[in-house]
Amino acid sequence: MAAEDQNACAETLPPPAAATGSSRKKAAVKTAANQHDTKSTAKNNTSKASEKLARLGLRKDMDFALHLPMRYEDETVVTSMHDAGFRGGSNVQIEGVITESDVQYRPRRQLVVTIADDSGQVVLRFLNFYGSQIKQLAVGIRIRARGELRHGFLGAEMVHPTYKIVVEGAPLPTVLTPVYHSAEGVPQALLRKAISNALLRIQWRDTLSASRLAALGLQSFEASVRTLHNPPPDIDQHSLIEREHPAWERMKFDELLAQQLSLKRAQITRRSKGASALPIVGELSNAFLLNLPFSLTGAQEKVLAEIRADLREQFPMQRLLQGDVGSGKTIVAALAAAQAIDNGFQAAMMAPTEILAEQHFKKIATWLEPLGVKTAWLTGSLKKKEKDLANALISSGEAQLVIGTHALIQDSVQFKKLGLVIVDEQHRFGVSQRLNLANKAEAGKVPHQLMMSATPIPRTLAMTYFADLEVSVIDELPPGRTPIVTRVIDQNRREEVIARVHAATQEGKQVYWVCPLIEESETLQLQTATDTHAMLAAALPDIQVGLVHGRLKPAEKQAVMEDFIQHRSQLLVATTVIEVGVDVPNASLMVIEHAERFGLSQLHQLRGRVGRGAAASACLLLYQGPLGGTARQRLAIMRESNDGFEIARKDLELRGPGEFLGARQSGEAMLRFANLDTDQWLVEKARNLACELLSNDPLTVAAHLERWLGNREEFLRV
Ligand code: ADP
Ligand code: MG
Repeated sequence: MAAEDQNACAETLPPPAAATGSSRKKAAVKTAANQHDTKSTAKNNTSKASEKLARLGLRKDMDFALHLPMRYEDETVVTSMHDAGFRGGSNVQIEGVITESDVQYRPRRQLVVTIADDSGQVVLRFLNFYGSQIKQLAVGIRIRARGELRHGFLGAEMVHPTYKIVVEGAPLPTVLTPVYHSAEGVPQALLRKAISNALLRIQWRDTLSASRLAALGLQSFEASVRTLHNPPPDIDQHSLIEREHPAWERMKFDELLAQQLSLKRAQITRRSKGASALPIVGELSNAFLLNLPFSLTGAQEKVLAEIRADLREQFPMQRLLQGDVGSGKTIVAALAAAQAIDNGFQAAMMAPTEILAEQHFKKIATWLEPLGVKTAWLTGSLKKKEKDLANALISSGEAQLVIGTHALIQDSVQFKKLGLVIVDEQHRFGVSQRLNLANKAEAGKVPHQLMMSATPIPRTLAMTYFADLEVSVIDELPPGRTPIVTRVIDQNRREEVIARVHAATQEGKQVYWVCPLIEESETLQLQTATDTHAMLAAALPDIQVGLVHGRLKPAEKQAVMEDFIQHRSQLLVATTVIEVGVDVPNASLMVIEHAERFGLSQLHQLRGRVGRGAAASACLLLYQGPLGGTARQRLAIMRESNDGFEIARKDLELRGPGEFLGARQSGEAMLRFANLDTDQWLVEKARNLACELLSNDPLTVAAHLERWLGNREEFLRV
């Protein structure tokens, strides 16, 4: 995080002057000499500073007030170097006089400063430093340094400590020092100053009445903000640091309340727009069900009933259909589409990738076309002529079911009578993309919307992030599936793995080989995939090995997939393009290389490509050792659980909601203070209060949203 840039912090500390009487005089002289310069640039500097602050989202006084410390540092005690030595690894503050200061070149250029007190000495090491620091950290100067003490070559050392120059006996702070999230060029000192100025100017007003606060057991807004920026000396430091203090509780509550209000309000707005009711479950729906080679699972029946009930209403359905990989969401979606068509409306289905859209198209078309449904296919890669043709079918209403990628949301696509929008893998789309499609109904109306997700979102998250959606869950897999056996295997044993792949293909099974994720470089990832393909093709000359990755042209991709689906190839080497939705039931073995690089939910998605047929399936997670503790833990979770919800919950614990949901999904609406794992009880309180306020206290709603979201609410409303 930028604010953790210790060096920038040290460099921008007030010059030595700030701390000492004698050097303060020197500084004063210096300042006088430079006064002319300083004055002429002062204005410039102020506006530059405010620009930088604005980039951090800090404009109004309240923005500053709500820019709460991300952590606190305890500078209230100095530990003797001797005692500090026993506390290796933990953060300590030491104070001593510089006895040596050198720029060394071993192994790279670094500033090495030794400081000593009566009890011992510690080496401070700076790998990035400014010229001014060499001068500043001269022999004889006394400094206070804070950081993690380690035992290096030269004994106890600190790498990149924060430090300040002090005189002997300089008083220690009596309170914890807040540390703020910052950005390059915005020193902590500047932030602190700006925040304390803002706190002076604010006209404090609580958005919640005293009686409400009392009922909720919360403390006042002003007191909370002040406490968090300037913790009093007698505060319970632990609860402050752990964000459990009542002051934090108030902030978290307010934040959650704003989120709930905003989402619920968006939902009310959408409801008020109205949708066309689609009450008829007619010929098509019934014929489709009759023709299915299997019967629906109880869970599929249940969610279908929920969807059918929604479609009967004259306000738009906003339903999130969750179901583990392979739980059979596609059929439920197709049945919803059939109902829209039964009512004389069009249905559109949007998928995040061409491969996935294509698979849906093939599958759903095979189900519905024989029953007389006209379908259209629309993706960005279609030739102009084909696109025009598709568009014509869509706008005339001839195409009853349209399947495609985000090409569907382009302005040029005009539906005649769009009644239902289905968005698969909705978390892959930005909120605005998904809602763009929602704007394509007849004037003044919104189509019903069904969002599907195979990344099961734990209940807590669903409640906070999707407070505007109803949630249906398919919590049962179709019968006859044998659970996938997962093994975690060292990459060194590749030969054995290749032999196993070969054996599987000889038994008539098909195999996926997933190449490592290389986030930094798509080119490198592509290269790796190509190399792996060449390696496997050479090692297994008697089988057909396909290769699919994101850079292939759609037609090429389609051809490779078709070969695999038709069993013309036995082994498919792939990048993560196969992550979602690919459905080849005969594939029953998957190898994932460098499994330690993937997120758990992603591994689960990938693994879900096997275990779709009756054959016993296996997933081999290859890793490159040595593995760290967390990586080991993560792979163990994969080995032990096949349950997407359980895995998602663990993944969330390990990664935090931001990464879990992906930046796009969470965006600015991300919670800054509340922690969904520990603050569940606050979420529930906030939800209840949000409902109450929305029905009878619009002024409070407005004031609270303005304070917490300001203009950011637009994001949620789109
Ligand atoms: P997902 O929820 O991952 O999108 P799919 O809809 O692709 O799952 O379904 C996975 C597989 O299970 C498909 O091959 C589908 O035809 C099959 N399937 C779906 N529902 C049932 C069912 N009720 N009984 C048997 N097989 C089913
Ligand atoms: Mg699917």
